[in-house]
Amino acid sequence: MTKRSVLLAAAAIMLAPAVPASAQGNELVLYCSVQEEWCRAMSEAFQRETGINVLMTRRSSGETYAQIAAESGQPRGDVWWGGTGDPHLQAAQEGLTEEYRSDMLAELQPWALQQAETSGYRTVGIYAGGLGFGYNTDLVTENPPACWADLLDARFEDDVQVANPNSSGTSYTMLATLVQLMGEEEAFEYLTQLHGNISQYTQSGSAPIRAAATGETAIGIVFMHDAVAQTVTGAPIVTVAPCEGTGYEVGSMSIIAGGPNPDAARAFYDWALTPAAQELGATANSFQIPSNVNSVTPDAAPRLEDVNLIDYDFALYGSSEERTRLLQRWDAEIGSLP
Ligand code: PLP
Repeated sequence: MTKRSVLLAAAAIMLAPAVPASAQGNELVLYCSVQEEWCRAMSEAFQRETGINVLMTRRSSGETYAQIAAESGQPRGDVWWGGTGDPHLQAAQEGLTEEYRSDMLAELQPWALQQAETSGYRTVGIYAGGLGFGYNTDLVTENPPACWADLLDARFEDDVQVANPNSSGTSYTMLATLVQLMGEEEAFEYLTQLHGNISQYTQSGSAPIRAAATGETAIGIVFMHDAVAQTVTGAPIVTVAPCEGTGYEVGSMSIIAGGPNPDAARAFYDWALTPAAQELGATANSFQIPSNVNSVTPDAAPRLEDVNLIDYDFALYGSSEERTRLLQRWDAEIGSLP
């Protein structure tokens, strides 16, 4: 483990609520990495339908990975649901999550199954969504940005936000996307230049677009569905699929190895892959593409086929070595900039 990830892990432990000793039997300890509203909708629906009491904690993808790694000697969580696929793949490679072949796999999209196959069935795809950005039309009234290159424009100085890739899966997806799109040296050169326009690296991946919605910043780099979620609630946000091409996420779910409630974990896993459970996303203002072929995709969800997508190498960028190496390089070259 790197010094940085040890620090993150330690911080996660200190922040984690203590799970009572009684958290066994008719309980499920759920680590959730999507929006709080969707996490709550899933917890409440599962609890209502099964009578299993859900103890839910919401954290960003990188933070949840760090928490599970820190707790590996004495796992306290049962299921990690949601968040970008790369850290789920890293957890799988490190044996932090458990192999499980749900009968529901037969109903999933190929990209969701691919995630399972890549991990030896230690994780599975639950939704997908493309990376992009959103801008506030009250603040950007002419020559709207359409490409990654446009975000370097001097007129956006201190007016762009993106998350820190250590805590946020969204931001790590951007880092890995730029490396695949431009080549690693050019990607770090781009990020160095972009730094001049960044007012803040947020902890959570969707915070930048919430800031753009309120006018705190002009542009937020986020998943396109996060930008759409602001537009549908009336915010002056336009969603952009960058012209050069972009990456995407396969949001994932994993059972934590050695968790206290393995039966409840498998019950949740099977249920979370059903259309009824997946369609709760749209009721919670979340517009990803669901992974069950029979789930209804929300009208507002940006379609992957409409976007110029790169062939994102999940196996490589979700590997322990590559994710750790890229985050270390980001810390050394971008995170350390004044
Ligand atoms: N919220 C939404 C809507 C997402 O699609 C994702 C990614 O899976 C996340 C949150 C993850 O957030 P973060 O970038 O903070 O890890």
